[in-house]
Formats: sequence, structure tokens, C-alpha cells
Amino acid sequence: MPLHVLSHPLGTHVLTHLRDKTTKPALFRTLSYQISLLLALEATRDLATEVKSIETPLETITGRVLAKPLAIVPILRAGLGMMQPFQDVFPDVSVGYVGLERDHTTAIARSYYCKLPPLAGKRTIVVDPMLATGGSAAQALDVVKAAGATEVVFVCIVAAPEGVAVVEKAHPTVSIYTGALDRELNAKKYILPGLGDFGDRLYGT
Ligand code: URA
Repeated sequence: MPLHVLSHPLGTHVLTHLRDKTTKPALFRTLSYQISLLLALEATRDLATEVKSIETPLETITGRVLAKPLAIVPILRAGLGMMQPFQDVFPDVSVGYVGLERDHTTAIARSYYCKLPPLAGKRTIVVDPMLATGGSAAQALDVVKAAGATEVVFVCIVAAPEGVAVVEKAHPTVSIYTGALDRELNAKKYILPGLGDFGDRLYGT
């Protein structure tokens, strides 16, 4: 499935400020909201619609409405920073959570929480801001598929080529939407140039 890299001047502007190490948590959260909103629109561009007959104040017309329900599954904890705009533009979206924690020395993800709504028949959008090694993303995609999700996309703010390759290999039918495709991972598995630890910057930890 294709990798979709956001192409919007506002996205570029917001990403630059997110990357800036002097950006404080309050502004970082606002910028995360803004870029996640742009990504939410991109990742749902191909949603199916169905016919609906309605009456305007003047006449009856045939319009179209969304045909399928949506679910958003943030990977805890950083994924929470991307969730709100999806709920704002898709008010009926169901929300599930997958808690995966990266061991800072091995960079291997450990699952500590999972709470999912029924996912069968829904477009399921897994969100995690930093697609680094791809380990957490691939694991979260395994989890939502095991819970019944069949139509799944992955949305992140910054991706490393290494992480994209891992997700593409493990989940070839999952489309990836990212705000930027960065250069590489460093020895500690952080994305370069990246923006540092997203969760720490979001929560000021
Ligand atoms: N997680 C982060 O928060 N930042 C990275 O660069 C990689 C993983």
C-alpha cells in the first residue's frame, strides 16, 4: 500500500515549529492538534459514502453521507496527542486504546493495556506520532486486526524509513499517512532530524 506524505504548506509550517526544541508543551499540544487534523482529513479522503435523500428548506435532493463507522486507536501514551481532532471532525468515531511502552535501552515495545470497541466493519485508524523502528506500530496493527479490524490505516506525524519498511513488510495492506518522512534512526532509535521524544514534549516530562 502506498505511503502518503502530507503535502500542505500549513503542515510544513506546523512541523517546523513542532521540531523546534524551544517550543514549549502548551504550543506543542496545539501544533500536534493542527497537524493531526490535516492528517485526519488525508487519511479519510477515500472513505465510502452512500446516497441519502434529504429535504432542504426548498426541495428534496439526493445527498451523500459517510457509509461506514470509524474507530480511532491511539497507541498510549503519545498517540493521545493526536486523538482529539479525529473526534472533533468525526463525532461518532469509536475510540480504543493500545498501551505499548518502548524500553529505552532495547527499543522493544511491551504491551501494558488494551481496550478496544468492536472493530468489524469499521475503518480503523491507528495513531502514533513517531513511526521509528516500526515495532510498536506493527504490534498495534496485529492487535486491532486480531480484534476484528479489516480496513486499517496507520497515521503518524513523523516517520523513519526503517519504521515504514517494517510496517510495510508486516502489514502490506495498511496505508501509512505521515506528516513527514525523515532521514534515519540514530543509535538510540530516535528519528533524525525528528523532534525528540514526542510524549515527553507533549506532557512536559
Ligand atoms: N519516539 C519518539 O518520541 N521520538 C523518536 O524520535 C522516536 C520514537
